Amino acid sequence: MPKALTLDDRLIDYLHSVSLREPEVLRQLRAETAAHPRSQMQIAPEQGQFMALLVELLGARRILEIGCFTGYSSLAMSLALPADGYIDTCDVDEETTAIARHYWQAAGQQDKITLHLGPALDTLKELPGPYDLVFLDADKVNYDAYLEASYKRLRAGGLILIDNVLWSGAVADESVRDPDTEALRALNRKLQADSRFTISMLPLADGLTLARKR
Ligand code: CA
Repeated sequence: MPKALTLDDRLIDYLHSVSLREPEVLRQLRAETAAHPRSQMQIAPEQGQFMALLVELLGARRILEIGCFTGYSSLAMSLALPADGYIDTCDVDEETTAIARHYWQAAGQQDKITLHLGPALDTLKELPGPYDLVFLDADKVNYDAYLEASYKRLRAGGLILIDNVLWSGAVADESVRDPDTEALRALNRKLQADSRFTISMLPLADGLTLARKR
């Protein structure tokens, strides 16, 4: 059996050097977010590029994002959308989403992205969908509730992307018992047995599960 590949910093640098096509506005947003105390919440640039590819593959036009942070993922997806495409993104943080708004404006994407400030489970009552693609990247203890709310709003054949499913490896460490880790473990197990979806868990960045609604 081949040895599993571990992506150390040198290999990630190489991967970036030969495959990353990051628009300047996203590069600037990433640089600004790197100085933020919660910078680890930003998705990796190769993940943004992958999600943009998924938007194209799916022919997505209607996207729901739960967890916006400083707006990298929404901007990466928006740039891949057709002119009549749109994103509804939910977050509770005024400070980080102010950074997001600034960069959406700088990229000319502000008309395609609507920010809904407030608890997502409340916001979603006003957003019936349907959506082609959902990106789930908010508080982990509510992931299951977000998944179920997203499922109801997703078209058949639509895709839910669930971020941080490997949680820096904590999910595989039985000594870790905090609520976030337990919630991710439970969701991963649930999805494995959930016949409503076709799934694939990718060891991309912090782990990304693709779940396609059947
Ligand atoms: Ca994340």
